[in-house]
Amino acid sequence: MADCVFCKIGAREIPAMVVYEDADIIAFRDIHPQAPAHILIITKRHAASLDEYATEDAALLGRLILAARQIARQEKLADRGYRIVVNCGEDGGQAVAHIHLHLLGGRPMNWPPG
Ligand code: AMP
Ligand code: ZN
Repeated sequence: MADCVFCKIGAREIPAMVVYEDADIIAFRDIHPQAPAHILIITKRHAASLDEYATEDAALLGRLILAARQIARQEKLADRGYRIVVNCGEDGGQAVAHIHLHLLGGRPMNWPPG
């Protein structure tokens, strides 16, 4: 989508600290990290949120989670653990309208989230 910042990162039109990429997925460091490791994993194809995904997208969504797991290993987070978050819509606290997983690690996470 023309004005979408994450589409532009996916197309390499604006810079990001990319930590993983394949044909359909790209992952990069969050610009305002909320933990020592804070990485966003997105599909290159635009979808405003998880709510827009269809049943046929199950494999792609699964690959997003597996990419997050691989990055967690790469970042040496797997031993101590990490958190994956998907904010969806207004009450979910979603600020960027392009689906993304947050991978957070490097410190203990609290529950319940804010
Ligand atoms: P959310 O609130 O789930 O929509 O999260 C959006 C996240 O995107 C926030 O954590 C922002 O810090 C992050 N963000 C926004 N713009 C950029 C950017 N250009 N590069 C990296 N992270 C970004
Ligand atoms: Zn987009």
